[in-house]
Formats: sequence, C-alpha cells, structure tokens
Amino acid sequence: METILVLAFLETDGSLGKAGREAVTAGRSLCDALGASLVFGLIGESLTTAAQQAGGLGANRVFGVAGPEFATARYVTDALAAEAICRTAQAAIVVAAGTSRAARALPGAAHRLGGRVDTHVTGLAAESGTISVTRWYYRQRMEAVLQRARRPWVILVDPGCFAACDAAAAPVSIEAIPVQVPALRTTVTGFQSPAADAQTIRPDAELLFVAGAGWTKVQSDGKAHAPEAADLILGFLRGAKASLGGSKSLVDLSGEGQAVLPFMTHLNQIGQTGATPRHPKGLATCCHGEEPHTVGWRFINERRAVNLDPNCGWARGKADVLYVADAFAVMAKVNALLSNDQ
Ligand SMILES: Cc1cc2nc3c(=O)[nH]c(=O)nc-3n(C[C@H](O)[C@H](O)[C@H](O)COP(=O)(O)OP(=O)(O)OC[C@H]3O[C@@H](n4cnc5c(N)ncnc54)[C@H](O)[C@@H]3O)c2cc1C
Repeated sequence: METILVLAFLETDGSLGKAGREAVTAGRSLCDALGASLVFGLIGESLTTAAQQAGGLGANRVFGVAGPEFATARYVTDALAAEAICRTAQAAIVVAAGTSRAARALPGAAHRLGGRVDTHVTGLAAESGTISVTRWYYRQRMEAVLQRARRPWVILVDPGCFAACDAAAAPVSIEAIPVQVPALRTTVTGFQSPAADAQTIRPDAELLFVAGAGWTKVQSDGKAHAPEAADLILGFLRGAKASLGGSKSLVDLSGEGQAVLPFMTHLNQIGQTGATPRHPKGLATCCHGEEPHTVGWRFINERRAVNLDPNCGWARGKADVLYVADAFAVMAKVNALLSNDQ
C-alpha cells in the first residue's frame, strides 16, 4: 500500500490554511479510494494548532519540522524540511496546496528524492489502484489526465479546486523530525503589501467583476467619463468585495499611461494572454466578450454581462445572462442598492 502524505506549510498563526485544508480533501479522496491511511507532514514555527486540526481530520500519523527558521517561506529551509518529512514518512504520493511557497520549494525536494512533481493539478482520481491527476494545458484549452509510475510523486493542487475540509480539533502526537539548518543567506524581514481595500485581485471573492475598454470610450453625450467610471468600479468592488478583472484592451490602455483607470494593471487581465481565475460568478461590463477574452472565463460558473450592443460576443453563448444596457447607469443603480444594504 502506497503512503499518501498531505504536506502543508502552516499559516502565521500556526494553523492549516484554507488552501491546505483543500489539499487535505484531495489527499483524503485518494486515501478513501485506495483504502490507504492519511499521513500529515507539517512545516512551521510551531505545530501544535495544526497537529490538532490534523487529528480532527483523521490523521493516522503526523510528522513535523518545527522552529523559527521554518516560519516563513525560504527555499533552502522549506525544501530541506519537505525532503526530510517525505523520507521519514516514506511517502509515495505527496499532496500539497499549490501556493507560491510550495510551488517554489517542492519541485526541488521532489528532485532530491528522485521523484517527480506535477503542479496546477485540478483533479485527482484512483481506480483499481492507479492514480490519475488532471491538469490543463495551453492556456486552459486542453485538459490532460496523467498517470506516473515514478515515486515519490509530488502533486500540487491548485487552490479553489477542492472543498476545504474542517473538523473539531482532536489530540494527536507529532513525530518531530530534526533538520540541520545550514548557514542562511536569506532573512525574511517582513511583508509589504497594499492595504486590503487597495488590493483589487481577490482570488477568494465570490464574484469576478470585469471592466472592458468601453468604460473609457466616448459615450452617448459625446464625451469620455473615465473618472466617473473609476468611481463606479471602485465603489462596486468595495460594496460587493468582488475581484477586479480587465480586458486586454483596457489594461493595455492603462499601460500606455493614458488617463484611464489608474488601478488597472496587466495583472488584472483575464483571457488567453491573461489569467483564468476561479470564482462562482462573473459580471462583465463594457467588454465585448471576444473569444481571446472569454477563454479566461473557463472556470467562472455563472456569467453575466452588461453591454450596449445586443450583438456583442456575450450574446453568442458566452454569457448566461446579457443585460443590453448602459453600464454607467446599471452600476450606479447597483452601487446605490449595495450602499442601502450596508
Ligand atoms: C493573440 C491574442 C490574444 C489576446 N488575449 C486577450 C486576453 O488575454 N484578454 C483579453 O481581454 N483580450 C485578449 N485579446 C484581445 C481581444 O480579442 C479583444 O480585442 C479585447 O478583449 C477587447 O476588449 P474590450 O471588449 O474591453 O474592448 P472593445 O472591443 O473595445 O469593446 C468595448 C465594449 O464596450 C461596450 N460599451 C461601451 N460603452 C458602454 C456602456 N456605456 N455600457 C455598456 N457597454 C458599453 C461596447 O459596446 C463594446 O462592446 C487578444 C487578442 C489576440 C489577437
């Protein structure tokens, strides 16, 4: 029986975060299908909180590497810790959340173990003892199912693809693994990040709000209204706590330094040459809905669009609902309704 290890880098409060608990769901589904027992590997400053979570989630054994050097992301310490846990647990399959921390350290650990790694995995299955993983290629246009004979096989699951599991804490003993930390060249001095309300890309948001180039175009009164557009869009993001996406045309305009929407960057771009985020719902405004854009909506479950043009791309099977309307008027009304709610 192959040992299936769920490996997690802990949050700053010492817990298993949402992405980590999604990886537990993924690992547990394999254990259930194969009749294997669930083994955890935890890496962090202190393991007590996460170990109790693991106990509640049905951990059979919990291996851990702990200490102040393992509190924050650093390739050398993270890869060493992961390698030590995988060797001690004799893990054949290692499932971890595809966070930036894990994506940086685990491919190196897999190489040192003589194994293989697959990233951006969106699904897992096991049939007659054979494990398959699913991932997308070519900008999410082709879905492949992969199987590997090589072990250990490190599998990084994309956040948002599995439900995060939860359970009441339960006691479990931690098998601590000592790791000799070499001289460290990298010191983490802190984090710099924009204030929460200045951050427009929110992967966990219920709704993706897409702004297209129409917001900057001349409107029926013969004038462009970029400042009003900016107020409406930011007002909606604040009210609905939505994530902001943009069409390529709109983010390119911003990149050229034109007086458009100052908060819109290429990181917001959705589509073939942009991002393919996962949100339950999406609302496109002033965006034509051309194929190179809508291909980035592949994982948005419920799609709506507001466009003046009844023949826009959304009308051709790309959206569930198209409102043929002026987005300035619609969003002003929606924002008013949202502020009444608060
Ligand atoms: C190789 C390649 C890769 C590409 N990759 C991407 C990509 O990753 N992402 C991407 O987005 N595009 C991509 N494109 C570009 C894509 O084909 C479109 O050109 C682009 O998405 C158009 O952006 P838009 O819909 O915002 O602008 P426009 O085509 O200018 O559409 C503006 C829309 O706004 C509407 N509008 C105007 N005023 C209002 C109003 N008041 N209320 C409601 N609606 C209004 C108009 O009716 C119009 O439909 C790519 C193209 C190529 C060739």
